[in-house]
Amino acid sequence: GAPDLSGRLEKPRVRFDDVGGMDAIKDEIRLKIIHPLKHPELYQAYGKAVGGGILMYGPPGCGKTHLARATAGEVSASFIAVGIEDVLDMWLGSSEKNLHALFDEARRNRPCVLFFDEVDALAANRSDLRQSAGRMIINQFLSELDGATASNDGVLVLAATNAPWHLDPAFRRPGRFDRILFVPPPDAPARAAILRVLAAGKPQQALDFDQVAKRADQFSGADLKAVVDLAVEAKLREAIASGVPKPLTTKDLLAAAALVKPSTKEW
Ligand code: ATP
Repeated sequence: GAPDLSGRLEKPRVRFDDVGGMDAIKDEIRLKIIHPLKHPELYQAYGKAVGGGILMYGPPGCGKTHLARATAGEVSASFIAVGIEDVLDMWLGSSEKNLHALFDEARRNRPCVLFFDEVDALAANRSDLRQSAGRMIINQFLSELDGATASNDGVLVLAATNAPWHLDPAFRRPGRFDRILFVPPPDAPARAAILRVLAAGKPQQALDFDQVAKRADQFSGADLKAVVDLAVEAKLREAIASGVPKPLTTKDLLAAAALVKPSTKEW
């Protein structure tokens, strides 16, 4: 049946400041999405076409979804995240209508950032879908994307993939996902920035984020979140036992980092 899109619509409050590192990608998104919304007349003056999608690729857990959500937050737009399973469900429930309903829902709530995760899987061979079915889904998706772009109606499409080489070349045509942005595993300064964001608002004492970042080689953003979560849990246990909350220290973060395995090794 038709997927239930209610409850999917978010009004994110996270902003770019809540995303550590990723400076080059933020710049690109500012140029392609944020400034066109804020200064359409400037883009018109230079004859610069607005629209098309942005495709991000890189290892899991390095902030693609987080950044997409923050992009919506930056321009007070609505946000809908769609996984590949949703799209396949839509197809199994006759997705022509449903994929259209999804873009309609985005239009009704414009400006709206529509985020497709694992978009490459649309094009991949799947045992439960014949090749021709995959083709149909792709075509429907691309025609909705082209429609949103052509009408310039405030639906901004961001997509993410871990495997851009599986992506159908039709996605890459001009006006579609003509720009692919690599989202690398965070380097040491980016890791420090991410840790700072993750620890913000928690009781803390002169945290040396650079030192922790150095000991977190090849950690993804999600790994760093696990580090902060573990350190906070340890602190909570102490606080419950003693009845006194103590601030997070560098030592706490280092101890937690020693327990988390880096997940971006092969990248
Ligand atoms: P996936 O491909 O698995 O969806 P992803 O690249 O979309 O991975 P996210 O889901 O955005 O990764 O990241 C997982 C979590 O890690 C986020 O919810 C966030 O808490 C944290 N995180 C990741 N990157 C950052 C970052 N740059 N700044 C702050 N938090 C981050």
